[in-house]
Amino acid sequence: MKLPPTHAIMAEILERAKTVLTVDSHQHLSPETPLTTDLVRLILMDSYVSTDLVSAGLPPENLERWRDPDLPLAKRWLQLLPFWKQVQHGSYARAILVTAGDLYGASGFKSLTEIETVSSRLSEDFRQPGLFERLFVQRCRIDTVLTQSPAPFTGRRPRFYWVFRPLDRADFSPGGLFEQDCAKAGILLRSASDLPAAMDAILKKARQQGATGFKGVAMAWSAPDEEELREAWAHRSQSALLPGHPFLRLYLARMAAVAAEVDIPVALHTGAPWTNWLDYRQWEPTGLIPLFLSFRETRFDLYHAGLPYPDQASLLAKTFPNVWHNLTWAHLISPEMARRCISTWLDTVPINKILGFGGDYSNETVVLTYGHLAIARENVASVLAQRIKDGLLNQDEARYILKAWFSENPRNLYRLPGQTTTSP
Ligand SMILES: [Zn+2]
Repeated sequence: MKLPPTHAIMAEILERAKTVLTVDSHQHLSPETPLTTDLVRLILMDSYVSTDLVSAGLPPENLERWRDPDLPLAKRWLQLLPFWKQVQHGSYARAILVTAGDLYGASGFKSLTEIETVSSRLSEDFRQPGLFERLFVQRCRIDTVLTQSPAPFTGRRPRFYWVFRPLDRADFSPGGLFEQDCAKAGILLRSASDLPAAMDAILKKARQQGATGFKGVAMAWSAPDEEELREAWAHRSQSALLPGHPFLRLYLARMAAVAAEVDIPVALHTGAPWTNWLDYRQWEPTGLIPLFLSFRETRFDLYHAGLPYPDQASLLAKTFPNVWHNLTWAHLISPEMARRCISTWLDTVPINKILGFGGDYSNETVVLTYGHLAIARENVASVLAQRIKDGLLNQDEARYILKAWFSENPRNLYRLPGQTTTSP
């Protein structure tokens, strides 16, 4: 059930949503550099829609080949077209269609001429310095972005804040990434009992470098005991860690402990797979409950509404005062599921525990934030408008929720400048 954008209440709330100075609470952006691209490359660099394309039958090796902007655009488009037709009605594709339509003049990718025109506008936009400011500040009304770049980075327009991903370097094999990082920091690793202090040192160094949060993933968490850790240390030459490996559970515990100490949140991926062939059951969100119980002073930011486990996830932010829900990527995975979460959360979760939007793109696909945000605003506005229509909310209350979810809550949770302590 969804109100059309033409419905008077819906139109009013949607317009209001567009005026909120928005925080993009999750991106994978590194500092801006000019990039060579075109429409086919943009589509195929989007790991989300690529997941759909491969699922529809596109051979994965063609993804790489057709991304090459030096090969003829028309040929690559015609090769892609049969697969695009299978995925074009999905919500990943919708972010592309909305972005290409509003920013580059597309109207449904109907002809080769259109593909070429859109591609040349797109490549011009990516070539011109200042894309981040044009996109976020001018086109999206986003003034603040939380980003998970490999290295710390800050920017002014929009303001960028860095979220550190320790698990990217959680290779504990002898001479592996973790040991290399320890060596750089002057930490000697002799046995499993050196790991907690080493992890703490790496986390605190990231904080000193400007980290405003740590990022991990959901898992069936329990505190690892000493024997498990000793055993894992003895077999640490196996570099690929399986879900729930004792070292991963230990790292998550140290992230939670240090985050509380330095007063920043721990963000956690829950639920959905970001590419093909992933067993997403490992990120089922309720597996985290023992972690929430063990670290009550830590603020946890749960990404993606736990989709496709929205009902299991929903009550987490209700039950645990240390848990927030973040709709990043959820609007895009499925607008229908996201709207159901929004409605469920209005029933169950306090208003100040919800973050409304995160683009979740990379430098190559950053412009799709525009289409994703349009879907996000429409989703939230649609549910709020329905509640107004049903007599459960008034317009002022709906405006208050829009401001809280898209702007104030992320600023408050991450202690960003401009945070407010507005109460209803
Ligand atoms: Zn992400």
